[in-house]
Amino acid sequence: MANYNTLTPELIEQLKAAAPGHLLTGDEINEDYAHDEMPIYGKRMPDALLMATSTEEIAAVMKICNENLIPVTPRGAGTGLVGGCVPMYGGVVIDTTKMKQILEYDLDNFIVKIQPGVLLQELADDCAKQGYLYPPDPGEKLATVGGNVSTNAGGMRAVKYGATRDYVQAMKVVLPNGEITDFGASVSKTSSGYSLLNLMIGSEGTLGIITELTLKIIPAPKKVISLIIPFEDLESAIATVPKLKAANLGPQALEFMEREIVLSSERYIGRAVFPKEIEGAEVGAYLLVTFDGEDEDSLFDLVEKASDLVLEEGAMDVLVADTPAKIKDAWAARSSFLEAIEAETKLLDECDVVVPVNKIPDFLTFSKKWGEECDLIIKSFGHAGDGNLHIYQCSNDLEEDEFKRRVDIYFEKLYEEAVACGGLVSGEHGIGRGKVKYLKESVGETNMALMEGIKKVFDPNLILNPGKVCYTL
Ligand SMILES: Cc1cc2nc3c(=O)[nH]c(=O)nc-3n(C[C@H](O)[C@H](O)[C@H](O)COP(=O)(O)OP(=O)(O)OC[C@H]3O[C@@H](n4cnc5c(N)ncnc54)[C@H](O)[C@@H]3O)c2cc1C
Repeated sequence: MANYNTLTPELIEQLKAAAPGHLLTGDEINEDYAHDEMPIYGKRMPDALLMATSTEEIAAVMKICNENLIPVTPRGAGTGLVGGCVPMYGGVVIDTTKMKQILEYDLDNFIVKIQPGVLLQELADDCAKQGYLYPPDPGEKLATVGGNVSTNAGGMRAVKYGATRDYVQAMKVVLPNGEITDFGASVSKTSSGYSLLNLMIGSEGTLGIITELTLKIIPAPKKVISLIIPFEDLESAIATVPKLKAANLGPQALEFMEREIVLSSERYIGRAVFPKEIEGAEVGAYLLVTFDGEDEDSLFDLVEKASDLVLEEGAMDVLVADTPAKIKDAWAARSSFLEAIEAETKLLDECDVVVPVNKIPDFLTFSKKWGEECDLIIKSFGHAGDGNLHIYQCSNDLEEDEFKRRVDIYFEKLYEEAVACGGLVSGEHGIGRGKVKYLKESVGETNMALMEGIKKVFDPNLILNPGKVCYTL
């Protein structure tokens, strides 16, 4: 159990001297810093907020906090969904959003170097200007890339290109004692000891603070086409997924969505994009698939093969979005799912399990059955191509305590089932504060002890992002 100290006026003066003009306290701190996008996991304001501008400034503040046992919580844009950037033990929050420079491109080696506060959208747009693609594509484009690396964010294109981890080559890190170090290198392979770089990726601000990133980029594909594929029910939609993958057509994105969530999202964006009825039959679910390639002919060939396959497997139709405007429309609806649910829901929680792709239908049936048992509204969508499901529990009439009690029972059942069928607690959102208990239950004592051991090596005083991922105080 760590015994933290509180920030005295003397310590605040020391911190202010280490970061002149960049340390805020009291009413100067906006109340948004008390939560992320999932406030149900708890709210707490920081005692001080560093609007960091450099590695050295972060290092100086970390050193003072470490010597005085003051908790520190790193924060990007605060779009996380597991309470990861919330300072549950108070202390100092280090906001990285002012460190937002794209530092340099090395196009011969397909590399871009950035500060951690660059937003995903800014990086994507800047790479596109150079004719390159930064492949990770999580739904929230206003997240920082530092936050994406810290959660190993996934997103729509992971089915073809992998998650954020696959694009991180090196990083500069401030350790909890204030030391500055570098992990990784701008090389394309390594067998050089333990991968400290990979330990940092997905560590959710519990091991160190990322202050610079060296990322891989690829030449941008020249053409992109999306297909909206309606089915009568979810089971037949999902049953098509392994067949689409086995056909080796290499989709860039492969998402599933049920009718209800599409209706919510269209109400939210105020525009109808997906067909609801085909020849008098009601559409029950959809696949949204994107292909990319070098020229139109090869892409149309892929689309033809995919269309034949899905129609044979029971698709009701195939709608081709082949202009930038149509593609944008289809994906705008998909991208708004979470906001659409939020707009119609008073209380909300989320389960981000990942299961083997062929287990998706059974798992979703299980999730609905337990939704009924617990009397919760369940809304689901997800990345069909990689088995990562976003299952939302919603309520508009329960009191918060009762909602949490039911969600707890629901989560126990769901995570137990996920692990039993070969899955894991989180596919891309992380563990943060919200899923610590379920991580413990799923990985077992031995693996948890290894994680806690790693945490103690990086952060012997346990001051960095306490109460998150593996180390409960
Ligand atoms: C509408 C919506 C859609 C989303 N879609 C997706 C999706 O498709 N895929 C997906 O994976 N996620 C998704 N997310 C979740 C969220 O956007 C990601 O988790 C994102 O990576 C968080 O980045 P952030 O900058 O907001 O980080 P924050 O929320 O501020 O922090 C997240 C974690 O990273 C740590 N951290 C942040 N910056 C640093 C740093 N520089 N050094 C060390 N630790 C740091 C924090 O301590 C915290 O533990 C979505 C969220 C929303 C609201």
